[in-house]
Amino acid sequence: MRKYHFYLFCVVFILAFSACVKAAASKESSSVENNQQADPIRAEFALNTVCSITLFDQAKESVYNDIFNRLNEIENLMSAHLPNTDISRINAYAGKAPVKVHSDVFNLIERALYFAEISGGAFDPTVGPLVNLWGITSEKPRLPSRTEINAVLPLINWRNVELDRQNQTVFLKNASMALDLGAIAKGYAADEVISIIKEAKIDRAIVDLGGNVATFGVKADKSPWRVGLQNPEFGKNNRGAYIGIIPGPAKTVVTSGVYERYFEYNGTYYHHIFSPYSGYPASNGLMSVTIVADTSMDADALSTATFVMGYEKGRVLIDSIKGVEAIFVFEDKTIRKTSGLEFILTDSSYKILTQ
Ligand code: AMP
Ligand code: MG
Repeated sequence: MRKYHFYLFCVVFILAFSACVKAAASKESSSVENNQQADPIRAEFALNTVCSITLFDQAKESVYNDIFNRLNEIENLMSAHLPNTDISRINAYAGKAPVKVHSDVFNLIERALYFAEISGGAFDPTVGPLVNLWGITSEKPRLPSRTEINAVLPLINWRNVELDRQNQTVFLKNASMALDLGAIAKGYAADEVISIIKEAKIDRAIVDLGGNVATFGVKADKSPWRVGLQNPEFGKNNRGAYIGIIPGPAKTVVTSGVYERYFEYNGTYYHHIFSPYSGYPASNGLMSVTIVADTSMDADALSTATFVMGYEKGRVLIDSIKGVEAIFVFEDKTIRKTSGLEFILTDSSYKILTQ
């Protein structure tokens, strides 16, 4: 019997002492552990994931409202799945005409194309036709035929996105091309949330947009936040299980992993990060890549890019960018990391390799 099982979840921990607050909405869950009392966490479903925001020190309700309004605004501009967003309009006019977009959208696409270039096309925002074919972000993902995959592969090419800065237009040169900013938009959104938090003069906060984590300030006892690294294994009940800890200082921590969104078909797992070269989920021995950086947008793009590039090439890319660190977790439960990052392993079934 043919069997499809669909899984989608993200779990991230901010670790401190004992108190634990859990938030769950729709199909995903997100949990945060910290030592603050009566944590003022607010979680809503936006950007196709659970967004949970924790503002400490009696943050006003209005700041939460500003944050979730901004997240909804970003979704209404950037989603490839909602009708009438700037991205949906660009896709609808593929091969026909350039589309004028909001400056936020223009700038994000420009940045996405930059990451496409430096990753040799491993990260490619024109991956839309592949994402749609697999239905990986839908309720009903499926394994397409080789013929179907071959038919969409020529459409995936970031070089066929034409930007006109003066007129703020975006044009997809070929009909049926489609942008999908799913690998960078949450990072952009997390940076926007942090800006709102700074403007509101809030001292301490945790932002978790479905695995894109950004911490702000320090804990109440002045020690830095500690972010847990999710166990990335497929098919196990790993919700809430972490394999190690990244101790502060406050930065952003973004993971691309097989566990985030996947389905099982006839005993094989298929995840949501595609190789634009093969048209299949990237398969190179990695289970997850975590990037620690100053901006969540860059970390988001780089985690997806390096996941597709694989360890050897991905490591060369990360080593070439100042202030960016990475943790690579492999299927054989070994871990490699860059030298500028501290990582405390807590799950003894994993092993850190020193080069
Ligand atoms: P992330 O979880 O940030 O690694 O992003 C994964 C999401 O980005 C997927 O759900 C797709 O919507 C999209 N995506 C998948 N493969 C790629 C790729 N090679 N380049 C850019 N975006 C991708
Ligand atoms: Mg990403």
